[in-house]
Amino acid sequence: MFENLSNNLAKAIKTLKGQGKITEINVAATVKEIRRALIQADVNYKVAKQITDDIKTNALGKDVLAAVSPGQLFTKVVSDELTKLMGSEKASINLNGKPAIILMAGLQGSGKTTFSAKLANYLKRQNKSVLLVACDIYRPAAAEQLHVLGQQIDVEVFSKVDHKDAIQIAQEGIEYAKNTHKQVVIIDTAGRQTVDVGMMQEIKKLQDTVKPAETLFVVDAMVGQDAVTTAQGFYEQLHFDGIVLTKLDGDTRGGAALSIRAVVSKPIKFIGTGEKLTDLDLFYPDRMAQRILGMGDVVSLVERAEQIYDEQEAKKLSQKLRKNQFNLDDFYSQIQQLKKMGNLKDLVSMIPGMSKIADNAGNIGEENFKAFETIIFSMTPQERAQPSLLDPNRRARVAKGSGMPIQEVNRLLKQFETMCQLMKQTQKGGIQHMMKLARKFR
Ligand code: GDP
Repeated sequence: MFENLSNNLAKAIKTLKGQGKITEINVAATVKEIRRALIQADVNYKVAKQITDDIKTNALGKDVLAAVSPGQLFTKVVSDELTKLMGSEKASINLNGKPAIILMAGLQGSGKTTFSAKLANYLKRQNKSVLLVACDIYRPAAAEQLHVLGQQIDVEVFSKVDHKDAIQIAQEGIEYAKNTHKQVVIIDTAGRQTVDVGMMQEIKKLQDTVKPAETLFVVDAMVGQDAVTTAQGFYEQLHFDGIVLTKLDGDTRGGAALSIRAVVSKPIKFIGTGEKLTDLDLFYPDRMAQRILGMGDVVSLVERAEQIYDEQEAKKLSQKLRKNQFNLDDFYSQIQQLKKMGNLKDLVSMIPGMSKIADNAGNIGEENFKAFETIIFSMTPQERAQPSLLDPNRRARVAKGSGMPIQEVNRLLKQFETMCQLMKQTQKGGIQHMMKLARKFR
């Protein structure tokens, strides 16, 4: 995420780092570089000009304290300005109403259906009962897609096959939610390829009828400047309360995240960072700014880990560790927990100082997990329960059975041992330990 922008900003700020003082001359050159980096990242020109002018004014007005270098101070100024640009405060969603109704709007393919399920999953984890309502009457597969996603997260989906009136479906869905005591109703609507009159009229009518507590505009960040233009086009005709930026994990240049708020004056509330249903983050402007500047975002990492982390499971594990009963089956379930936390590369890049090696970590992580799983599956239940049984003969058999080189089998067992030792030192479960480490960076 934002790799090029981060690198270019770092390069720009580096030119200042060697300087003893922030002066009109050295700031001018740095600011010019920053503006170039922003425009390259697809930030709207006017927005880029405004923010760099503000950065310059603020940086020049600051006294360089003995404790910080001009580069550090400047980084802080840039971080503050980027934060301001993205809206300063975290925006929450409005869940008023019995049930609270959330309406999705956006173009086809923007990620509405996926986000509807992600949001349902997120709310369910906060112990809210949720109903998903499929109102995309034009794409026959849309309701089916929502049903499949609903099943994955165990959230009920309301739809009506061959029914062509979105408003009626929504009304019946809400009625059903009331009868079944749901607290939140999420309405997934039809999108079009471009902002067209028919679509706007339909969604407006839907909004007037169901009176949602929250209308969220979902937009694909990968389309760069177009995301901002589409948001503007929508907002001229439909009131919405917040923006959801999806596909920020893709090869995006980041401009949409930076300029959409300044152009539309509506906050970004959530970001989508992958295709999995847990790949959803609340949008914190300050953390995003720090992430763009390579300052890391450990807080998001911890929150995501906390959402997935199972306390009961961790207790069981720590008991097993104390009794020296931690085995390869447990190791396997730890890997599953790590996988649930989403894209490894993303996770690693949230840790300060790690963004540079995130590329490697991403590649190693995903592939290793798969290799480890294959190897573990080639062991007998007895071997999994008692890894010390795995002598060279058995290791060779496992390697052959899994189609992996013997070195991979040895590497897995070495990793397993290291993990046991690490966890024993802390007397806690693996992920819990990782979260503790992460908290230290906060
Ligand atoms: P809709 O037409 O607006 O309902 O869009 P969908 O929810 O069907 O999403 C379109 C495609 O984008 C699907 O293949 C999704 O898996 C994918 N998608 C949605 N959100 C994300 C995201 O945050 N990251 C990535 N990489 N893909 C996403």
